[in-house]
Amino acid sequence: MEQKATNVVWHARHINKAMREIRNKHKAAVLWFTGLSASGKSTIAVEVDKLLFTMGAATYILDGDNVRHRLCKDLGFSADDREENIRRIGEMAWLFADSGAIVLTAFISPYKQDRDLARSLMKQGEFFEIFVKADLETCKQRDPKGLYKKALAGEIEDFTGISAPYEEPESPELVIDTMQNDIDDCAMQIVDFLIEKEVISKP
Ligand code: ADP
Repeated sequence: MEQKATNVVWHARHINKAMREIRNKHKAAVLWFTGLSASGKSTIAVEVDKLLFTMGAATYILDGDNVRHRLCKDLGFSADDREENIRRIGEMAWLFADSGAIVLTAFISPYKQDRDLARSLMKQGEFFEIFVKADLETCKQRDPKGLYKKALAGEIEDFTGISAPYEEPESPELVIDTMQNDIDDCAMQIVDFLIEKEVISKP
């Protein structure tokens, strides 16, 4: 994206990310959850956040609906707006990771190109794309916010899976199948994965 402002100079600091990581006793990372609405992204992010917090980690959740209430409230659900939404979230995730945190993002993020953009902001090995997998039928059945019902009745435009596409990740770092595993198992799989990748150490 083009730089509009001039005379902007990046200000150097004494405390850097590596120092924050040492103090936190874990690496900074972005856990980028992607999946259909109702696949379980927010539910699992909340559980993983709880587990990591209990282990002493610095964590933060960026959640789709919450961000759309504030930073991105000027954006809708057209492809362009979704792209801008994900770009801003990617930048926010970068900032939180720069502060040394493990950031959990829970957004449908249906387009591969947009997810790749978020990935490209991060250092190699700091971005983990987590495909939260449940088929459309299961998501329609769950429908915790009644959104599929509305979308099927034609009351919501551009609804992912109904009237807008979802591009499944081709090579995510992790796939979590929320049809085969209960919420606690899904969350534990992610914590075990972070231990295996040496983002955090075993308690
Ligand atoms: P999303 O954030 O992907 O839109 P939500 O987390 O808001 O999805 O909703 C997922 C719904 O599915 C919740 O009502 C949750 O209780 C239910 N659910 C059932 N099984 C699971 C599972 N294994 N993992 C996550 N959510 C599950």
